[in-house]
Amino acid sequence: MSGRLRVGVVGVGSVGSMALWRLARMGVQASGFDLYAPGHDRGAAGGESRIFRLAYREGRDYVPLLKAARDLWHELEADTRTRLLTPCGALTIGERSDPEVQEVLACLEEYELAGEVLDAPSARARYPQHTLAEDELVVLDRDAGVLRPEVGVHAAALLAEQLGAELHRYTPVEEIEPTSQGVRVAVRGGRAFQFDRVLLAPGPWASRLGLLRDVGIQAREIVMFWVRAREPREYLADRFPVAIRMGHLPFSCLPSLDGLTVKISLHGYERPQVDDPESLRRSVDHHLVNLLEEVIREKLPGLYGEPLRIGTYADGFTEDGHGVVGDVGPDPRIIALSGFSGHGFKLAPVLGEIGAQLATEGKSSLLIERLQPGRLLTRKTRTPTGRETGAA
Ligand SMILES: Cc1cc2nc3c(=O)[nH]c(=O)nc-3n(C[C@H](O)[C@H](O)[C@H](O)COP(=O)(O)OP(=O)(O)OC[C@H]3O[C@@H](n4cnc5c(N)ncnc54)[C@H](O)[C@@H]3O)c2cc1C
Repeated sequence: MSGRLRVGVVGVGSVGSMALWRLARMGVQASGFDLYAPGHDRGAAGGESRIFRLAYREGRDYVPLLKAARDLWHELEADTRTRLLTPCGALTIGERSDPEVQEVLACLEEYELAGEVLDAPSARARYPQHTLAEDELVVLDRDAGVLRPEVGVHAAALLAEQLGAELHRYTPVEEIEPTSQGVRVAVRGGRAFQFDRVLLAPGPWASRLGLLRDVGIQAREIVMFWVRAREPREYLADRFPVAIRMGHLPFSCLPSLDGLTVKISLHGYERPQVDDPESLRRSVDHHLVNLLEEVIREKLPGLYGEPLRIGTYADGFTEDGHGVVGDVGPDPRIIALSGFSGHGFKLAPVLGEIGAQLATEGKSSLLIERLQPGRLLTRKTRTPTGRETGAA
């Protein structure tokens, strides 16, 4: 055995692929395991596009992480000569008093982000695709854009391989067990591997791993609708930024990537729990289609109301809507990167970097309080056996 640290990554999806890349780049002996091949669309990275934004309604404390993520996306683009992030800006639309609009405004101010605040008349003139009420305002986050998720995961995983990581495709991990020599990872077919540290990045499959049960991550369905634009030119990224609408009929939508359709996700309803991320339904409840038609009629009248495509996907959700990054017990050599609750893709490279730092140094200056697992763990699960054993 060489003297290099051995790190196993369970799940080479959005976050796991990035962790594998960052570990390999650090010279760590890294091995990744996935149910499928990297870049597949069965997990939380499916559906062609993801929003990247800096002015973060989920909390201004994310901004430094988001800036670090943006730098890493650019690094991945340069190192793989692949375009992954298309800049187009993002609009947050709502009333000034809306708490999430307030948070976005606070991000612009506190971090001096490149942005602009438009009242309804100016926003109507610049973005006629949106119907705006007189008391609504539009906050433009200029640094936002659209990411290509499947390509991004594939690019990171292949780069990790080029840098020396080992990738086990179509290799479900069945058991993870701390031992006196390290952490044992058993895969389907009876093979087992031994590591010094293990990162758990199983996305919506989190509840299948007993080790993550105590943080209570649930797989939930997210539905995407692709609808046709009446004047497709008006919905391209150079004139139709990402938009996130608060208040009545909330939704997010992305500019047209194919020159014909716009992708919409409805917000503001309870996302159904999913028992098995591999058996997502192909049809959705009729009330969602009705809601989509209402959103289009009232807020985006330049689109046709009938969806041409409906895609169902799943992500792992925590109770408070923020991810879990760190030691969740029973052994500090096992580190969770999970539960990103519908907004983790943009952060994936920095989450991978944090995972790599936790695995190699035991700490990360990038990790924010909001992602610490302790907030979700009960006292009982905070004192497991083996916690003080340190590195094997
Ligand atoms: C429809 C939809 C739209 C979204 N929109 C946005 C957005 O616009 N912006 C944004 O930032 N975020 C968005 N998100 C959230 C973001 O995509 C997720 O938070 C993120 O992709 C989660 O990454 P992950 O690595 O946890 O999961 P995944 O990418 O699903 O990766 C998990 C991987 O683990 C593998 N795996 C699981 N169990 C095992 C096992 N036992 N053995 C081996 N491999 C295993 C799976 O095959 C998979 O490849 C969206 C999510 C969805 C579903």
